[in-house]
Amino acid sequence: MTSFGLNATTPIEFKKEDESRLAVFWKDGHKSLYYFRDLRGACQCASCVDERTGVSILNSANVPEDIRLLSASPVGRYGVQFRWSDGHGTGIYAFDYLRSLCPCPTCQAARQPRSDQAADGGPAESGQATRQPL
Ligand SMILES: [Zn+2]
Ligand SMILES: [Zn+2]
Repeated sequence: MTSFGLNATTPIEFKKEDESRLAVFWKDGHKSLYYFRDLRGACQCASCVDERTGVSILNSANVPEDIRLLSASPVGRYGVQFRWSDGHGTGIYAFDYLRSLCPCPTCQAARQPRSDQAADGGPAESGQATRQPL
């Protein structure tokens, strides 16, 4: 599923970096910095993601600009549950998912193995000019 090692998906510490970011320190020595807003927008719970399609139905425009993280509680050994200042608190973030969200350039670069596949994709996309109106 993921190529992360166990150490890369084992957080040592959750700590507020500042008023808008959460720092997560991982066992492999990596430090991830997440904007609260991005984390909130990545919530995978049933009210934020369509369970049938897996598509996020949370409009990021609905997430307050100044959203705050109120608490981070461990869930078993695999994840963490965040409570947010907008009242939301049902989302559980599995550690490997959380690690996969790391926005740092190193992780971003490691996450783009499919870029050349897209370039090879052929003209199928551009040929679909005749979209049905809803
Ligand atoms: Zn949610
Ligand atoms: Zn990273």
